[in-house]
Amino acid sequence: MRYRTFGKIGFQVSSLGFGAMNLPGVPLEQARAALNYALDNGINYIDTAAAYRNSEEIIGECISHRRDEYFLATKTGKRDYASAKEEIERSLTRMKTDVIDLLQIHYVNYVHEFKAAMEEDGAYRAALEAKKAGKIRHIGITGHRPELLAKWIQKDEFDQVLFHLNLAQPFALNELIPELTRRNMGKVAMKPLSGGFIQPVDKAIRYPYSQDVHVIISGMVSVDEVKENIAAMEREVEDAEREELERLALRLGTHNCRRCNYCSCPLGIPIPDVMISSVIREELGLLPKGVGFYEKHKEKIVSCADYEPCKEKPQCQQQCPYHLPMQSVIQKAAASY
Ligand code: SF4
Ligand code: SF4
Repeated sequence: MRYRTFGKIGFQVSSLGFGAMNLPGVPLEQARAALNYALDNGINYIDTAAAYRNSEEIIGECISHRRDEYFLATKTGKRDYASAKEEIERSLTRMKTDVIDLLQIHYVNYVHEFKAAMEEDGAYRAALEAKKAGKIRHIGITGHRPELLAKWIQKDEFDQVLFHLNLAQPFALNELIPELTRRNMGKVAMKPLSGGFIQPVDKAIRYPYSQDVHVIISGMVSVDEVKENIAAMEREVEDAEREELERLALRLGTHNCRRCNYCSCPLGIPIPDVMISSVIREELGLLPKGVGFYEKHKEKIVSCADYEPCKEKPQCQQQCPYHLPMQSVIQKAAASY
């Protein structure tokens, strides 16, 4: 396992971080085995969030007796002071710890949400107070819009940012990562498999591993998955492989969707998933999870073409800050059934 100094935070973090988001979906003993195997094999960064069902409780139950062996990162999705304060206290209790290493303001994608979190009565003040009280050590932020995140870190209020970086979403490389490097901040990449669409797993992990980030958070739920993820990082990425991965990322990123979720579809079509996976499917095929996704949403995807209110002006496209042609991508995907 490779270890890197985590920017100004200074901790020696493992390049692979354990993403605990999906642990609530598996039996507790399986989660316990996966978490402990990860710690036994060099992973020392655990990432969760108050919003991930009972993920924090699982961490408290399964590994709090080994608390000095891992850097613990969680998130608050609250924007106001009182609710964030309450949620931080709840996280401490649920994870059976006296201190959270990194508290991130979670999923900030809109300017108005950022403003709400940062104003006098916002979540950031609750985080600062908890930091002064020794209940959290560092404050970070997470979001899906890298160019906005690059602006929001200009006042040095944060120590770390969590962002998408994978073969299908290389957008953080443009402004965000260079800015984080300039500021010596913690750089954490999430979703190497883009929610289970990118394959093979080895290639998916090795792309962010080849880039300038400290930690790659991969969602894992079993010992086998931890082994598979660790194995992908056994060798360093040499120049030739890095260049090949970067060329592939350029092709897979042509959909340009940031997963900001500004768009919504009255038919319930998960637009960002279709946008991103459409290109992956053409280039690499899909993992079983991706195939299952298309089976599950077939009816909705197919009905986009007949949805009268969108015939003249697609409703989704009016909401996209990147002006993407979602309707034609959805209808092309429908043609593949
Ligand atoms: S164009 Fe299709 S995907 Fe977009 S909102 Fe309308 S029905 Fe939904
Ligand atoms: S299609 Fe546009 S609005 Fe929808 S998630 Fe992607 S970037 Fe955001």
